Amino acid sequence: GLILAIESSCDETAAAVVRGGCEALSNVVASQMKLHANYGGVVPELASREHLRNIVPVVRAAMEQAGVSLDDVDAIAVTEGPGLAGALLVGITYAKALSFGLGKPLIGVNHLEGHIHAVLMEARQRAESPMELPLLALVVSGGHTHLYLAEQRGEGGWRYRNVGRTVDDAAGEAYDKVAKLLGLGYPGGPWIDVLARRGNPQAVPFRFGQIKPRAHREGISLSNKKAPAKGSGDVASFNFSFSGIKTAVLRYIETHEMRGSAEARRGVLAEHPEWKPGSEETAALCDAETLDLIASFQHAVVGNLLRQTFAAAERFGARGVVVSGGVAANSELRRRFQAEAHRRGLPVAFPSLALSTDNAAMIAAAAWPKFVAGEFASEALGATPQLRLGGA
Ligand code: ATP
Ligand code: FE
Ligand code: MG
Repeated sequence: GLILAIESSCDETAAAVVRGGCEALSNVVASQMKLHANYGGVVPELASREHLRNIVPVVRAAMEQAGVSLDDVDAIAVTEGPGLAGALLVGITYAKALSFGLGKPLIGVNHLEGHIHAVLMEARQRAESPMELPLLALVVSGGHTHLYLAEQRGEGGWRYRNVGRTVDDAAGEAYDKVAKLLGLGYPGGPWIDVLARRGNPQAVPFRFGQIKPRAHREGISLSNKKAPAKGSGDVASFNFSFSGIKTAVLRYIETHEMRGSAEARRGVLAEHPEWKPGSEETAALCDAETLDLIASFQHAVVGNLLRQTFAAAERFGARGVVVSGGVAANSELRRRFQAEAHRRGLPVAFPSLALSTDNAAMIAAAAWPKFVAGEFASEALGATPQLRLGGA
């Protein structure tokens, strides 16, 4: 079972050849990060154009590195959503052409399911005992902050219940916006991650309120921990909101007159694009007050992710926790999630740094159960920018 997978949902053009759903023979990623960094975010039109430019060489490189030919491939998998419509279409069109030309089945994959499978795939590679279902999965990136309960569905298949999501900004988006406010580089996550280690996380007491479920149902309250009501569609909301903390940081910067130093920092970093987030030069640009603000912001965000995730895990009787998406690279998040999981006697797994950001190996891994079950896409497969996983 050899799957060639293609991913082009956002700003990475990626292709991978994966055997048996877990052995990556190749995993090629062409990132457009540098291109979009000039704009402080992904520009959809530029992304589509870059995907068009990259798709052929990236797939070719994936085939070469895997040392197999297209004839050896058993199926073509591709991300069908969620993501940018124009970007998704490049991968889908190319995958369909390959599938049609080679007479191999096509498999449509949800990008979010891919992020979850990135973690499980590596756990399998390390030959760890497989994590038992149900699993609570936190997918946390620049575009998503979702909690899913993954359950067994028949033979080898998976079923997902979306038990929480952000009602406004994603956590990674908050990192990027706060970094921008402070005059740090893009994407902001890695900058805040390393600088936070130098500040006092208790300096600024940011608080997260309780986010109300959109549709209130009786008995589904976090605070009173009542048993869940029986019946389908009963999904408690462990929702997130990150736009408030971004505004709180902005207000703090203004009331503490830190705007000038942020501007100065932005200017110096613009002149030194080679300075890395963790360098001494970069740290020297931040005074103690700024470092404290950074540390406090991160402490609050990670604390909120941690509380919601483990509350949901407890509520739904999850037997393990997996965390994926770009923010899963965060060092404080990993440390605190590991400690909390250990305290509760739950296994927790993260993807390696290479598989935590967008890639195609994870798309092949998520396609594997579908391949085994013969769940193939028709030639009508199209891009679904708002594609959801597990309803809600
Ligand atoms: P999608 O949401 O569709 O997966 P994306 O490109 O936003 O797309 P990723 O590439 O998975 O998602 O993640 C990028 C995000 O992760 C950015 O917001 C970035 O700031 C954040 N990030 C990366 N490294 C870290 C880190 N060490 N700590 C915190 N956030 C990080
Ligand atoms: Fe992603
Ligand atoms: Mg990305």
